[in-house]
Amino acid sequence: MGSIREIYDAKKTVFSCEVFPPKKDKPIEPTMEKLAAFKDIAPDFLSVTYGAGGSNAGHAVEIASFIRKDVGTDVLSHITSVGFSREKLDAGLKTFTDNDIENVLALRGDRPRTMTDEEYNSRDFFHASDMAEYIRKSYPSFTVAGACYPDKHFEARDYAEDIANLKKKVECGCSFLISQLFFDNDSFYKMSELMDKSGIDVPVSAGIMPITNARMLGTTVTLSGTSVPKSLSDVIAKYGENDDDMKKAGIEYAIDQIKDLLAHGVRGIHLYVMNKPETAEAVFAEVR
Ligand code: FAD
Repeated sequence: MGSIREIYDAKKTVFSCEVFPPKKDKPIEPTMEKLAAFKDIAPDFLSVTYGAGGSNAGHAVEIASFIRKDVGTDVLSHITSVGFSREKLDAGLKTFTDNDIENVLALRGDRPRTMTDEEYNSRDFFHASDMAEYIRKSYPSFTVAGACYPDKHFEARDYAEDIANLKKKVECGCSFLISQLFFDNDSFYKMSELMDKSGIDVPVSAGIMPITNARMLGTTVTLSGTSVPKSLSDVIAKYGENDDDMKKAGIEYAIDQIKDLLAHGVRGIHLYVMNKPETAEAVFAEVR
């Protein structure tokens, strides 16, 4: 266990998954029981999401600590700056250190609907890069990662602006990147080309979400801002009515995407598996 960046340095391809903690008013044990199955699947690391504003910070740390100690897998804890003062970030990072969590994904987060203007505007770290820089300088023992967007972040005017900001993020201390999910590999290749041209040379994991039922696609597209290529909408049109067929077809679509990415020499695959280890198992069986 140590710096996740070292895993990228040691391995040709890094395989990881994203999981999420239960809401703060829900029991934590059912999530732990589900995630325990990752012990046998043995991804290179698991990343644990964080509610913007720190709404479920307690559960996020408990789940990250459980993964590290009981699942026996390296863990990347997300942390968001929206609604965060420096003091709140310091306190959050202390709980990470107390639980031997050494890798953080520095994110700005999106404004929760319940957050007031005052709370939103009072944050000490405007962008993820500001928080990454602070963590790197004040807590050098942490390995810091950042997010990137194959379909461009929705607030950026164009790709050039988004990539220039991404470069700042890397210069501020993000030593590897994880991409937003995407369904069209050409988006990822375009982003990679622009990154190469701008001199960004840290490893990037490609974010892949197997669509295991047709209902999840709408929410996924709204939340991620990614586009749906015809090849995927054809799959949904053909299999979407039948959950078993859709699950199979969605996993196959993800496997095809990953095989193509591997053939293009991608450094990592990050699966958005929505706390379903069985989906990770089915995909990894075909691609690792
Ligand atoms: P930033 O890097 O701050 O970028 C946001 C926008 O600002 C972009 O348009 C960028 O081009 C621009 N920008 C960046 N830096 C600068 C700068 N220095 N100057 C001017 N403009 C700048 N959200 C959660 O709430 N919890 C999670 O756990 C979570 N996990 C995620 C994991 C991954 C892998 C990804 C891709 C996203 C995740 N998100 C999560 C969502 C994320 O918080 C949102 O996408 C958010 O809108 C942007 O976060 P960011 O860290 O990329 O922001």
